[in-house]
Amino acid sequence: SIVLGIESSCDETSASICIDGKIVSNIIANQTIHEQYGGVVPELASRVHQQNIVPAVDQAINAAKISKKQIDAVAFTRGPGLLGSLLVGTCFSKAFALANSIPLIEVNHMQAHILAHFIDEPKPKFPFLCLTVSGGHTQIVLVKDYFDMQIVGETLDDAAGEAFDKTAKILDLPYPGGPLIDKYAKEGNPNKYTFPEPQIAGLNFSFSGLKTAILYFVRDQVKANPNFLQENLNDVCASVQSRIVSILLNKFKKAAKEHHITDLAIAGGVSANSGLRKGLTDLAKEQNFNVFIPQFQYCTDNAAMIAIAGYYKFLNKDFVGQDVAPLARMPF
Ligand code: ATP
Ligand code: MG
Ligand code: FE
Repeated sequence: SIVLGIESSCDETSASICIDGKIVSNIIANQTIHEQYGGVVPELASRVHQQNIVPAVDQAINAAKISKKQIDAVAFTRGPGLLGSLLVGTCFSKAFALANSIPLIEVNHMQAHILAHFIDEPKPKFPFLCLTVSGGHTQIVLVKDYFDMQIVGETLDDAAGEAFDKTAKILDLPYPGGPLIDKYAKEGNPNKYTFPEPQIAGLNFSFSGLKTAILYFVRDQVKANPNFLQENLNDVCASVQSRIVSILLNKFKKAAKEHHITDLAIAGGVSANSGLRKGLTDLAKEQNFNVFIPQFQYCTDNAAMIAIAGYYKFLNKDFVGQDVAPLARMPF
């Protein structure tokens, strides 16, 4: 079977071709227009998706060396995400399915981040736990089957990606700041400054207190020394990153113990973070866990994860009709 995957939930326009469960192309058009605004501007994102979607799909089809007529189904992100952005991918996919008389498959973006683990070997075995950490979500998910997933812990306020991006804003770094904090942290001392670990019961997370603590810390330091940030950027980044990683991994370890699961995966944009990847690998050695860490290209938003999710739904003949509409919020 050949499945076309379409992703447009935020600011990446992406198209991918999956042939018999193998990803053969994955084209991602990033939007740079948002950098100057310090965050994604929904109205602009939607317009850029409209410009990018047809070229992205053409490129994905060409790179896969197939013809449009060979595609058996089109899978698209129905939600969650920005409604105006989701509408572009949804409308395109509906039109493509109608024009080519092929079935339409809806995909939940947060499930797709997890299912990115089924693109390459080694694939995790059910049941496993996945820590999904992205720009809008922070979840610990008990994954019982491809589409049988249960959230066992989540953030009560900001997402982990937001904690990175908001910290970057405080440090005068451009959006999205997560990758930059990662870069500077590599040169810094993670033990130089200590930021608070929130005391939240159970398996839930909170990042808003950390953000406020960083804001006040930087304000006070800059008051005492106007060059504080220039002189200590690497150490501040390393210290913040180390705290975000410890918050994430302490809860993930707790979840593994409580649910008696030893197969642990990470997914979503923040799973590209080198501190988190190393921290999880170290935890695995210490606790004898099996860990699954996605390739970088499948961490942040991409259509390969939508195409692979679509492939498993295609096997189940799990199709939707032309009346389907995108959802800004979409439970599993
Ligand atoms: P969601 O999946 O919740 O709808 P999203 O799709 O916008 O949100 P992703 O594309 O999965 O999110 O991830 C983007 C986030 O990942 C941003 O917050 C970005 O800063 C963060 N991120 C990407 N690379 C890194 C990195 N190396 N270190 C830390 N954060 C990173
Ligand atoms: Mg993005
Ligand atoms: Fe995402």
